[in-house]
Amino acid sequence: MTRFARPYIEGLSPYYDPRPGRALRMDTNTNPLGENPVCQQALRECAGMELGQYPSTYGTKLREALADLYRLRPENFVVGNGSDEILDIICKTYMQVSGRLVMAYPAYSLHGWFATVNGGTSAEVDLDDEFQLRVDAMLEAPGDLVILCTPNNPTSNLFRPDDVRSILEQSRRVVVVDEAYGEFAGESFIPLVNEYENLIVTRTFSKAYALAGMRVGYSVANPELTKDMQKVRVPYTLDKVSEHAASLALGQQDFVRRAVEVVRRERPHLHKGLEDLGLMPYPSDANFILFRCPFDSAEFVRRLATKDVMVRDFGRKRMLKDCARTTIGTREQNDITLEKMAQVVGEWR
Ligand SMILES: *Cc1c(COP(=O)(O)O)cnc(C)c1O
Repeated sequence: MTRFARPYIEGLSPYYDPRPGRALRMDTNTNPLGENPVCQQALRECAGMELGQYPSTYGTKLREALADLYRLRPENFVVGNGSDEILDIICKTYMQVSGRLVMAYPAYSLHGWFATVNGGTSAEVDLDDEFQLRVDAMLEAPGDLVILCTPNNPTSNLFRPDDVRSILEQSRRVVVVDEAYGEFAGESFIPLVNEYENLIVTRTFSKAYALAGMRVGYSVANPELTKDMQKVRVPYTLDKVSEHAASLALGQQDFVRRAVEVVRRERPHLHKGLEDLGLMPYPSDANFILFRCPFDSAEFVRRLATKDVMVRDFGRKRMLKDCARTTIGTREQNDITLEKMAQVVGEWR
């Protein structure tokens, strides 16, 4: 067979694509409170919105709402179809042709994937034994831009803010801080965007705002960086319905506060439950917990799925041998998860 695709595409695998059926979804770090109630309101209100016409080219309404929330300007924001689109825009803008992106390992695998599909490569710099950044190694790694994610996925810990700041200050390249879980950690680099010429923070509506199905994310950066990114962004990627839902959600901060509260209250409960089962949990600053199984994690995750609870396996990855990740849910969801885990652990012996 003749291969028509670009050569590097042969080495790529399809992304995580489970068939959840009616299983409890503890595998994607979504919101314990379920769908944000503004979705139904947005769908009703969009009925009169003339969907025969295009949305605004750059998502002006949402950028204005974001500017209000953070006391910044619309010129500080790029909005897109999930923060995944924003990460793609960042690679298209700041990674040179055939260039390289520097990222931490273990971290969000899509960071490296965006470099690859944009024709570049990624340099992975291992985290230390406590999953913290090795600042000097990050600084020394050759590449056009640096991406790190704090709290980090899948390890769930925050990086020390001073380490991130050192990387920011000593780098003469763009540094992207992916804060997909920022709301749960309560720490952010957003207030610093106008202070640094090379800082981009990315955020999403998929986690704390419970709008994963609407696909909305954004970057926060100084107006110069924002202008570059807007030039390569595909026009109209944010549809009218999603933009409206996200704008409404920004005005309902109470929902986000409640979600964060549930996560903070449930985190120690789930942590202890995992510990009691002999599944060694790592400390978490996010809405998920990484844990290490004393047996094959892939088989554990598979057996748990047959009991209608889905968690995500990372056990075949270097440094994460037999590790899996569970979302932090409501008390009821966590207790179902722990109960099914207990059954699987029990059957093992
Ligand atoms: C979930 C997640 C995202 C986001 O995704 P979108 O749904 O595309 O906004 C980005 N980065 C990390 C580290 C994530 O875990």
